[in-house]
Amino acid sequence: MARLLRDAVALTESQQLVRSSISDICSDFDHEYWRRRAADGEYPHEFVDALADHGWMGILVPEAYGGAGMGTQETVVMMEEIAANGGGFSAAQAVHGGVYNSVPIVEYASEELKTDLLPHVANGERSIQAFGLTEPNAGSNSTAIETRAEKSEARCTSERNGAAASNDGDEYVINGQKIWTSRVDVSDYVVVVARTTPRAEVEKRTHGISMFLVDLEDAHEQGALEMESIPKSASEFVHSFELWFDDLRVPAKNLIGVEGEGFYQVLDGLNEERLVIAAECIGLGRLALERAVEYANDREVFDRAIGSNQAIQHPLAEAYARLQAAKQLTYNAADRAASDEDVDLGAYANAAKFLAADAAYEAADAAVQTHGGFGVAREYDVERYFREARLTRLVPITQELALNYLGENVLGLPRSY
Ligand SMILES: Cc1cc2nc3c(=O)[nH]c(=O)nc-3n(C[C@H](O)[C@H](O)[C@H](O)COP(=O)(O)OP(=O)(O)OC[C@H]3O[C@@H](n4cnc5c(N)ncnc54)[C@H](O)[C@@H]3O)c2cc1C
Repeated sequence: MARLLRDAVALTESQQLVRSSISDICSDFDHEYWRRRAADGEYPHEFVDALADHGWMGILVPEAYGGAGMGTQETVVMMEEIAANGGGFSAAQAVHGGVYNSVPIVEYASEELKTDLLPHVANGERSIQAFGLTEPNAGSNSTAIETRAEKSEARCTSERNGAAASNDGDEYVINGQKIWTSRVDVSDYVVVVARTTPRAEVEKRTHGISMFLVDLEDAHEQGALEMESIPKSASEFVHSFELWFDDLRVPAKNLIGVEGEGFYQVLDGLNEERLVIAAECIGLGRLALERAVEYANDREVFDRAIGSNQAIQHPLAEAYARLQAAKQLTYNAADRAASDEDVDLGAYANAAKFLAADAAYEAADAAVQTHGGFGVAREYDVERYFREARLTRLVPITQELALNYLGENVLGLPRSY
């Protein structure tokens, strides 16, 4: 059964290579490993290091900078396998930022920044695991962010990292607050999205937003960053934080791309990233379904396997069908993203994320029900998958916002957000 879903789509040669390499790495991390990480809340460093040692943190870094030079077609396979092989959505989330946050650097950063940073990201020495966009007062409405980045006006006389800080205008000073910024505790850098022009002063709300690469060690040395972990009920070993920036000085060379164009830069990679999230949901759904089928075949009540009851079979079969459909859509869209076709990827990506998150949720729910009382026992894992599956309906965008996109941009209905 699990193989059927694994082999549901024909893979290219490079996708097959990714799948076998990732499955090999994952086979060293069993259910007990992930159960322990969830219980102790410790980030799975060994697992991430193993991926990095095999070069997979650089899957999206071009070969010219030491990476694997692959794209979305391969990344959906990587992330689906990570989730499906026992780690679930949380294991995929533990590496997601490290893989994806290199994309704005590749696409928009200066050559100097790319050359300085990307080879180290590709070989796993440095990581850009964190991306800070969401703010408490803005929520899903990203253009309402209030964090400000202003070019410094006065010459900065302080010395940092042994080098004199520089002339007028060659630093930005960041002030503001972020919420839900994940993996800041295990990252060397955070990509911060901030307003370089206040919303009241721009013609369009999407203007005046910029992206910055913030060196976390430097931020802590300056005493300009406070962070507080947010206790939560899913993905226990991937920590999310509230951040406060207080006169954080960032060298101007760490501006990613063009000042004021950051929102468009964020949007640029979003659809392909959303397909990868969909693949992570599918991997989690596969995992939940596989565990449920195993249990349904083993557990005997009334002198027969519980799986022989249609009340147990049908929800599992339905989950299979829904996961299969979500997978077809996700992989088809990844293929189209890699082609030269002029295609509305947003239509595919939002539909894929919506369907995959719901399919994962239904699979995990059916897995809990199949386990009866053991469905809530930690040692059977399915309660963890269920909590993770619930989370997939909230992040990185909520199901409602994915539907908003489809309603407005695909169906041509009036704007609602
Ligand atoms: C575990 C976790 C990790 C995260 N990691 C990161 C990260 O690393 N970096 C980062 O920047 N962010 C991160 N986020 C933030 C995440 O992207 C946001 O939580 C998400 O975008 C929703 O924003 P919100 O929580 O403020 O909800 P709100 O925007 O307050 O929405 C609340 C509810 O109202 C609904 N709603 C709002 N507006 C509309 C509308 N117009 N139409 C219909 N429904 C609407 C929403 O769908 C939702 O159900 C993370 C969140 C979580 C929970």
